[in-house]
Amino acid sequence: METIEDLERNIKELKRQQAICKHSFGEPYSDPETKRVEYHTGGYTTQGTHINYNTTYREVKVPRFARKCKLCGKIQHTYEMVNIAKAVKN
Ligand SMILES: [Zn+2]
Repeated sequence: METIEDLERNIKELKRQQAICKHSFGEPYSDPETKRVEYHTGGYTTQGTHINYNTTYREVKVPRFARKCKLCGKIQHTYEMVNIAKAVKN
């Protein structure tokens, strides 16, 4: 079984490899991010002069794109497709 020390060593080694990698990114792909967003459900309660709006959370999918280096596995994310497309050409 791997120990925490083994894993930390692996992480260090992967970071080292990614730092010296001449990244070769594959095609960008859609990779929506799930975010928890608080929203007002209507109504409120008061505590003295303080108003507490009734809220709850829901999960929303935020459009996002990712690309993965074919050499080291590094994954980059962006919320703007135009930028990552530009970066791929460089
Ligand atoms: Zn790489």
